[in-house]
Amino acid sequence: MQEKRPLTAEEERVIIHRGTEMPFTGKFLKHKEKGTYTCRRCGAELYRSEHKFDSGCGWPAFDDEIAGAVKRKPDPDGHRVEIVCAACDGHLGHVFIGEGLTDKNLRHCVNSVSLAFVPAGSKKNAEAIFAAGCFWGVEHLMKQAPGVKATQVGYAGGHLENPDYRSVCSGTTGHLEVIRVEFDETVTSFETLAKLFFEIHDFSQADGQGPDIGEQYLSAIFYADDAQKAAAEKLISQLKGMGHQVATTLRPTAKFWPAEDYHQNYYSKTGKAPYCHIRRKIF
Ligand SMILES: [Zn+2]
Repeated sequence: MQEKRPLTAEEERVIIHRGTEMPFTGKFLKHKEKGTYTCRRCGAELYRSEHKFDSGCGWPAFDDEIAGAVKRKPDPDGHRVEIVCAACDGHLGHVFIGEGLTDKNLRHCVNSVSLAFVPAGSKKNAEAIFAAGCFWGVEHLMKQAPGVKATQVGYAGGHLENPDYRSVCSGTTGHLEVIRVEFDETVTSFETLAKLFFEIHDFSQADGQGPDIGEQYLSAIFYADDAQKAAAEKLISQLKGMGHQVATTLRPTAKFWPAEDYHQNYYSKTGKAPYCHIRRKIF
C-alpha cells in the first residue's frame, strides 16, 4: 500500500527480483560517512553508520539494524535467511549469524543497490500543515505515507494563544484542527502529500467534515511558501477541472500549537481504526 519510487533496471533486478549485485562493486562498500542508510525504494531508515563494518566479503555489512526496520524470511534456496525492508518488502540481502566477525556476531550482507544514504545532520525536513477535519484520522493516514518523518496534531489559524482542545471545540477561537507533517524531500514532495490530503477527506464540504460541524473542522492548507501555494492551487484547479466542488481554503502558514499528548497518534495508541477518514484515489 506504500507508494514507492521508480526503480532503475538494476535496482528492480535486485530489490524486486531478489538479485545480487556483483561483489566489490557497490557504492556503499567502502563508504564510511556518518549518517543513516535508508531503503532505496521507500525511504525507510534501516541502518546507522555505527552498525557498519568491513567484512571483506564484497558487500556492505552491518552487525545491527534500526529496531523493527528489517524483516527476516527463509530464503527460497532453503538454507540462507533473506532480509527485506519491513516497510515495503524490498529485498536487501541476507543475514548470517555466528561468524564471529564482530561482538554482535551478526552480519547483514546488503546490496548497495538496495540502499540510499542520508548524511548525519545534513538536512532539515520540510514541513506542511493541513486541516481536514478531526485530526486523529488525518494523522493516522498521513504518517503512513513514504517520506513522512514525523507528524504532530494541533491547532492553527485562530487568535487565542495557547489554545487547548476544550477551547478550540467551543468553536470560538478561530483555530482549525491541523496536522503538521515533517517530510524528507528526497523521498516525497509537498505536492504528493497534498494529493494524499485531498484523497483522505471530503474537500467539498464547506461547514466541517462529515458529522463534525464547525469552524475547527474546516478543510484548509497552511502553505509555508509560494511554491507550496502554487502546488496547492494547481491541484485545486485540477480537481475543479474534474468537476469537483472544492471548499478547501489556502492560508499563509500560521503558528502551530501542538495538541495535548493524548491526541497524538490517537489511533496507534488506542488500536482503533479511523471512522472519519479513508483514502479514495482521485489523482
Ligand atoms: Zn522499503
